[in-house]
Amino acid sequence: VRARVMQVDHSPSVTYEDIGGLEEQMNEVRETVEMPLERPEMFDQVGIEPPSGVLLYGPPGTGKTMLAKAVANQTDATFIKMAGSELVHKFIGEGAKLVRDLFEVARENEPAVIFIDEIDAIASKRTDSKTSGDAEVQRTMMQLLSEMDGFSERGDIRIIAATNRFDMLDPAILRPGRFDRLIEVPKPEAEGRELIFRIHTRDMNVADDVDFDALAEMAEDASGADIKAVCTEAGMFAIRDDRTEIYMEDFEEAWGKIQAEADEDPDASR
Ligand code: ATP
Repeated sequence: VRARVMQVDHSPSVTYEDIGGLEEQMNEVRETVEMPLERPEMFDQVGIEPPSGVLLYGPPGTGKTMLAKAVANQTDATFIKMAGSELVHKFIGEGAKLVRDLFEVARENEPAVIFIDEIDAIASKRTDSKTSGDAEVQRTMMQLLSEMDGFSERGDIRIIAATNRFDMLDPAILRPGRFDRLIEVPKPEAEGRELIFRIHTRDMNVADDVDFDALAEMAEDASGADIKAVCTEAGMFAIRDDRTEIYMEDFEEAWGKIQAEADEDPDASR
């Protein structure tokens, strides 16, 4: 069971250079996750405890998972990921045990960064606590909080959680000693979008007519994941046309296609 829901990556390959437009967020993650892992003695000497857990919140596909992977990479920590929805929906009745397993695996692989995606699935404001499904969710969350309370502040295990639905969260998990550092990860502004286009075209054979400034303007409201999809799709347009060089119009057509798909299926848009 454990192996199927927990994703363990001993050396994640994402670096800070792969992330565009999240300068401030990166700095905060470094301060709250990287520093305690790399220089725990600083916190001892100053006499404060590092934040227990960091919560990243914002729309889908904006780089939350990337941030967590990059900090694990930077600190040579094992990256352990689990999705909140899998904790409670995949193996009914197993949630609390899976949380215990999660921390056990982290302890066996110190230093480790635990990343819990979709934390809202186990920590949302209860709508109707009488149903048994909710009781299971509740137990899973209590287990998570007790693991967090229990582990030492020595700093070799750090916890990052992420959610797209901040408004749904149970305030109990945001109390001091829990997820007490909140970092908003928004969709990128024009400057960030340009950077993300540059990152995702690094290995692409881009023609001279491609104007990155214009691409950033074009892709208004796009997330990083959308931009990645546009770049891949632009490459596909070139291939369909039997070319190995990608033109500006390929990107424009790709953007049109991605938008049309998002209109058809709003739930799949990212
Ligand atoms: P979700 O909430 O859906 O889990 P997320 O915020 O964790 O999404 P990621 O998984 O980090 O999003 O991003 C998905 C993909 O989109 C990344 O693998 C990357 O290719 C691209 N991407 C997203 N944000 C950025 C960014 N800021 N810079 C570069 N690439 C990005």
